[in-house]
Amino acid sequence: MLFAETEFVVIGSGPGGATVARQLARAGRQVLLLERGRDWRTHPLYGTYPGAMLYTNGASFLYSREGINIIQPMMLGGATGMYCGCATRPQPFWHEYGLNLDPYAEQTIQELGIAPLPPEQRGRASTRLAECGSELGGAWQPQDKFFRLDQGCALDCGAKCMLGCRCGVKWNAATYVDEAVAAGCQVWTQAKVERVLSEGGVAYGVSGIRRGQPFQVRAKGVIAAAGGIGTPVLLQNSGLPQAGQGMTLDTTVIVYGHAGKEKGNGLEPPMTWSYADDELGVMYSTLVDPWLMYPIITLLKGPAYPLTWYRWGRTYGVMIKLHDEISGQVGQRGRIHKGLTPNDQSKLAQAEQYARQLLIRAGCSPDTIFATPARGTHPSGTVRVGQMLSPQLETEIQNLYVCDASVFPRALARPTVLTIIALGHYLSEWLAGGGEQ
Ligand SMILES: Cc1cc2nc3c(=O)[nH]c(=O)nc-3n(C[C@H](O)[C@H](O)[C@H](O)COP(=O)(O)OP(=O)(O)OC[C@H]3O[C@@H](n4cnc5c(N)ncnc54)[C@H](O)[C@@H]3O)c2cc1C
Repeated sequence: MLFAETEFVVIGSGPGGATVARQLARAGRQVLLLERGRDWRTHPLYGTYPGAMLYTNGASFLYSREGINIIQPMMLGGATGMYCGCATRPQPFWHEYGLNLDPYAEQTIQELGIAPLPPEQRGRASTRLAECGSELGGAWQPQDKFFRLDQGCALDCGAKCMLGCRCGVKWNAATYVDEAVAAGCQVWTQAKVERVLSEGGVAYGVSGIRRGQPFQVRAKGVIAAAGGIGTPVLLQNSGLPQAGQGMTLDTTVIVYGHAGKEKGNGLEPPMTWSYADDELGVMYSTLVDPWLMYPIITLLKGPAYPLTWYRWGRTYGVMIKLHDEISGQVGQRGRIHKGLTPNDQSKLAQAEQYARQLLIRAGCSPDTIFATPARGTHPSGTVRVGQMLSPQLETEIQNLYVCDASVFPRALARPTVLTIIALGHYLSEWLAGGGEQ
């Protein structure tokens, strides 16, 4: 058995865990960060199709019992190893829960240079789709991105960068882990935490397995940041069975149409334009699945759909992210129940109609337009603030905090990462100040 002692132990290195670890280490606190995955950034398979299968749960074939495909990356940096690099400011509703995340988000926007891509890099097809969407009445905007354009990259990977960004243009939470280490934080990769240890309702550490060897870490503060699926499972194993009752996924479909002789948006940077329709509760964006994922995703729709693969380069894609209701559950051993409620289905059907009209306006023939099956890339809302967490993100077990997408009280139907980084700043400021305002 491996033993360690520290002041704070952080579980998970996605944007939540990486931010807390960096900020606490910079405040001079002793921190140990535990991550179940590896650091894939310099591995030859990073950013490839086989790589993406290796570092996602269930090789990317994780499904809810109701058939929604859920992508759960597990590696240093968490899901930012595979995200689209989009950013949105925290929603006003956080104030209702006593959290003012706005200053932390603004600070992060400055620090990371978050901004839309310059017009010439937003992609011709994507820009055309956004123009058609605006003509239909939607407020399409250039999407803010976590992109660092000083890396000298031509941005010609298209959505393939969702397999992992090799050139470093997209900010990745693993960078914050590097900065945490530079400030004195210790990191153990391939360390899976199995439970939080507590006595008399007070947390005093964690136990788990690292590379086949059991370990125990004693700590004064425990921060669970294992993501919207990992954190509820961990809390259930630690005496909080109500964790994971209900979740949101920002359930997503992409509506495709054949662009005729025009080039599609598959080779353009993903999601360069977006439109949030808050009245309906959806966000639209410009996106086509990476080349080799397209036939797999479309096969799930039916055997005829992969036959459209030959025209991938001339396909327009409009992504829909749904503000889905809290429903279903993350159960024992991570078994997920999550479908679409009747209300979700009705909103999705309306959103698909809008996307269809947009694609027709952009020149797609109506008989080529179809929507993919539903997917979820934002598992969240499984340990909700206001229900299981205090405004300081503390559970009913004293000194056990949560800081990741699980704390969302409802779906964002928007990019999550900037909000999660802001939550990390908020919590670490509280903890570094000794838990007092
Ligand atoms: C393909 C894709 C595209 C996306 N695009 C965007 C986008 O453009 N913009 C945006 O804002 N969001 C995007 N997202 C969503 C975003 O990346 C996630 O919502 C966000 O990373 C969640 O952060 P988190 O800190 O909650 O957890 P995660 O990023 O999921 O990190 C949790 C970490 O904890 C580790 N872990 C889990 N269990 C344990 C355990 N028991 N012990 C130790 N470690 C554990 C995991 O391995 C993982 O590394 C995308 C997601 C995907 C999959």
